[in-house]
Amino acid sequence: MPKFVYFFEEGNAQMRELLGGKGAGLAEMTTAGLPVPAGFTITTEACLRFFSSGGTLPDGLAQEIASAMQTLQRRTGKEFGGMQNPLLVSVRSGARSSMPGMMDTILNLGLNDRTVVALAELTHNERFAWDAYRRFIMMFSNVVLGLEKQPFEEAITRTKQRLGVTLDPQIDAEHWKGLVSEFKDIVADGTGRTFPGDVQDQLDLAIRAVFDSWNSKRAIEYRRYQRIPDDWGTAVNVVSMVFGNMGDDSGTGVAFTRDPNTGENKLFGEYLRNAQGEDVVAGIRNPEKISDLEHSQPAVYRQFCDIARRLERHYKDVQDLEFTVERGTLYMLQTRSAKRSAQAAVRIAIDLVKEDVITRREALGRVDAGMLDQLFHARIDPAEQYDVLAKGLNASPGAATGQIVFDPDSAVQWHASGKRVILVRVETTPDDVHGMIASAGILTAKGGATSHAAVVARGMGKPCVAGCDVLHIDRRLRTVSVDSVTLHEGDPITVDGTTGNVIAKALTLIDPPSTLPDWLAQYLEWADAERRLQVWANADTPEDARRARELGATGIGLCRTEHMFMQTERLPVMQEMILADSLAGRNSALDRLLPFQREDFKGILHAMEGLPVTIRLLDPPLHEFLPSFETLLVATTELRMRDGESSEEYREKERLLRRVRQLHEQNPMLGLRVCRLGIVFPEIYAMQVRAIFEAACELRKEGIDVRPDVMIPGVGTKEEMERTFEAAQSVADAVIREKGIDVVYHIGTMIELPRACLVADELADYAQFFSFGTNDLTQTTFGYSRDDAEASFIPRYLEQKILRDDPFQVLDRRGVGTLMQEAVRRGRSRVPDLKIGICGEHGGEPSSVAFCHQINLNYVSCSPYRVPVARLSAAQAALNLLQ
Ligand code: PEP
Ligand code: MG
Repeated sequence: MPKFVYFFEEGNAQMRELLGGKGAGLAEMTTAGLPVPAGFTITTEACLRFFSSGGTLPDGLAQEIASAMQTLQRRTGKEFGGMQNPLLVSVRSGARSSMPGMMDTILNLGLNDRTVVALAELTHNERFAWDAYRRFIMMFSNVVLGLEKQPFEEAITRTKQRLGVTLDPQIDAEHWKGLVSEFKDIVADGTGRTFPGDVQDQLDLAIRAVFDSWNSKRAIEYRRYQRIPDDWGTAVNVVSMVFGNMGDDSGTGVAFTRDPNTGENKLFGEYLRNAQGEDVVAGIRNPEKISDLEHSQPAVYRQFCDIARRLERHYKDVQDLEFTVERGTLYMLQTRSAKRSAQAAVRIAIDLVKEDVITRREALGRVDAGMLDQLFHARIDPAEQYDVLAKGLNASPGAATGQIVFDPDSAVQWHASGKRVILVRVETTPDDVHGMIASAGILTAKGGATSHAAVVARGMGKPCVAGCDVLHIDRRLRTVSVDSVTLHEGDPITVDGTTGNVIAKALTLIDPPSTLPDWLAQYLEWADAERRLQVWANADTPEDARRARELGATGIGLCRTEHMFMQTERLPVMQEMILADSLAGRNSALDRLLPFQREDFKGILHAMEGLPVTIRLLDPPLHEFLPSFETLLVATTELRMRDGESSEEYREKERLLRRVRQLHEQNPMLGLRVCRLGIVFPEIYAMQVRAIFEAACELRKEGIDVRPDVMIPGVGTKEEMERTFEAAQSVADAVIREKGIDVVYHIGTMIELPRACLVADELADYAQFFSFGTNDLTQTTFGYSRDDAEASFIPRYLEQKILRDDPFQVLDRRGVGTLMQEAVRRGRSRVPDLKIGICGEHGGEPSSVAFCHQINLNYVSCSPYRVPVARLSAAQAALNLLQ
């Protein structure tokens, strides 16, 4: 049988897995000779066995606890449940990694109707004793017996009103006594049982409740958000109580050894005189700044500062400390690595290197790469108070406020008149792009994190909440409602794409930096020195390309060309091309599109001078460029009724309707798109390739170093590869010959179908590079629609642990990853130095970047704002800090 109980002096900082972070910290402080109250830790192993047996304590645990309580009594000279000098304990949760406030804690355990009297006599402080007792009943009832806090709080409020006082400390012993009796009635009413007076029962129930709090709803949600595994369990710490509420020379506080928001090297924290720990957290009274302690209790303050410094040096990291002062004596109750903002994390890591506490490599492990995203988006001012109207998928980070608009044209008009707008749609399609450009943020009722809205919004760095399915959008009335709340066009709204929250008012936001701040630039240079993966960006416009470059991208891994056809003056020409029923008609429209494309490519190639730009040929099904069938049907019907069937306008619309019907596919994602489109209509790809190389030649002529690469999407067979490769190559070479200018280029393919992975050797006979399109590869490997799955069953799958992560956000190594490895192996079996990258959304997600490093890709390509995340993740992967 394993040992389940460890006294603090038996443990150390390395035993986090078994003792939890709090237990390991208390153990480490005890062995370092710091003032820590006596106590012991029940291991996470005991917790896991408790769960696996369906809620019975593992064999031997009860005896170990009983024996530990005996020892604790001996050491403290107090007796648990005793009438002379009663031992009181706190029972505290503490998992391997900190989950602040997510699990439960019980203080003052061991009080009952008899020990409270003993405590009062012993301390000569009746008021203190009854205050402690009522706190215990309240906390125990809430945590262990599952009662709401409210009736207890109401009873306190009634007493204060009766006494004509406003603060808890103004309630005297007699009235606390009365409240204890009221509290017991509340418990009897709520549970049908009397409050447990037996101290052993109290301890047993409390330990079980703390174990169970690992599975509370908030703990589970927090773990999911922080990606903490569910199978770690929590340890339980039983600590002899020290009291911060024994008068003005007592108190309790929390402090950080440096400022966790800015990183400034200055003790940061709060102290509450004559109070217990929960008062600080509950905000019952306004605490003092920790520095005020210097005046009220200088000796304690000096001792605390000294301990804080020692702990920070010892752990080589910023610590989050909890302490209590009992009648002038300081006790340390916790030390743990402090949670901090992204900015503080980077600045502290740099400072610790400068102070010679850690090495540069260690510093690179100190920042959660995913958090760097936060730095480049506006945030809601933390001082704002608000109710959340609805919650959707946090599809593109950052917050935006603006007035609601329901269609892209209104977005453009309102924006032109100087308004900030939020585009609210059931879902967005590529023809909403102009509206998205004009909007400060996007909110959709349908669609997942790789839906059109999300991908485009992320690329543009615009906040987006997608798949918010509780929204009811009435396009006719131009309203959006959630339950009984209805908002109209023009009403203010805030969307927070970092959390997925939607708020029905305009909140104050804090702006992001427009370039890399110096400290981040320095930190990322350290990362660059360690990483092997190159970091490129997905960018469709010169502005995006410049931003990506500014943030450290050394190439464009995906320039999607479809958005280029959506702009106002181009869309009608594109539609004309699609509607043309002859090759000549299509070519005439394509000839007019070519100059536009050439200018687009010139812009982006110029912005990326000296660096590779991977331009992907047209990808989406053609119907995405046409109005929807339903809209057209309504319009034609109206025209027929108004003008009759012979009117020119009617006939035009009717023709459009017919073509849209013709192009309609049951399953457009698997239909006439990607390279299939380029094979059925080769003239489209030919025009695009011509535009790329005309742009390249013009720039070369101006002395600009351009490196265009052409990328064919969605190839699944050798024949598709061969055809599209040769077609593109012949146009490229023809332009180069015509212009008489040498341009170095490559033609490669996206690998985004399982079959492509399995025949990658054959594809490598042509393709000069591979780029994994893991959005489509995930969609086709799982058979989950990327536009629907996240708003439909994926949340359920995550809840039921059928999926550990959303595969559209975190690369699925087992399935999709195995296919990728196969593609790498086969591709490089033919061409050993074949260049391979990734340009799906996973290219900016830390654990997916680590996987790309492990399977030896050459580069990852992600949205411009995720470039810093990818730079750091790639370094962490190279240093084995990220698995
Ligand atoms: C992909 O499928 O991963 C990809 C990058 O292409 P798109 O998202 O444009 O389909
Ligand atoms: Mg794709």
